[in-house]
Amino acid sequence: MLINLSEVFTLEGKEKTWEVPFEAKAYKGSRVEYPVVSANPVKITVKNLGNRKLSLTGNTSVTLAIPCSRCLEPVNYTTDIEFDQEIDMNASDEDRVKDLDEQSYLSGYNLDADMLVCNELSLYLPMKVLCKDNCKGICSRCGANLNKGDCGCDTWVPDPRMAAIQDIFKQFKEV
Ligand SMILES: [Zn+2]
Ligand SMILES: [Zn+2]
Repeated sequence: MLINLSEVFTLEGKEKTWEVPFEAKAYKGSRVEYPVVSANPVKITVKNLGNRKLSLTGNTSVTLAIPCSRCLEPVNYTTDIEFDQEIDMNASDEDRVKDLDEQSYLSGYNLDADMLVCNELSLYLPMKVLCKDNCKGICSRCGANLNKGDCGCDTWVPDPRMAAIQDIFKQFKEV
């Protein structure tokens, strides 16, 4: 959802709070895309600090469906987000993108609340999510989810030292 900041921007000392819905259907990272399960409204307070600078504070909470890093089953993962930033309206949109090293959520006087939250999410999300601590993962042969029962595959991996000895025996037999 876009928020127009011009009302705050034109009056020094002016402060305004918005509460807008988080409308993104998914969080898109550089290599991942997680569906949004639910989200609290995004609370954003913008204050005009003078000298064409604005302070931006707020919070929300977003629940994403993130695949378990072992069995790939989606796990509902809730992230509480708090932001506290300063916006320098003297900088051009391009400068801001360069400074923040991220997509700019600000275009002219319009603030994109979804993009702001997604940028913050990228800082908060964990590298790994497990459905449970003792998740058994998936079978390396058939891909079955081992939490749902044994698939019956023979996943016995011979000890490499034993394999070497077996090779020697084989050679003797062949002679
Ligand atoms: Zn799992
Ligand atoms: Zn299997």
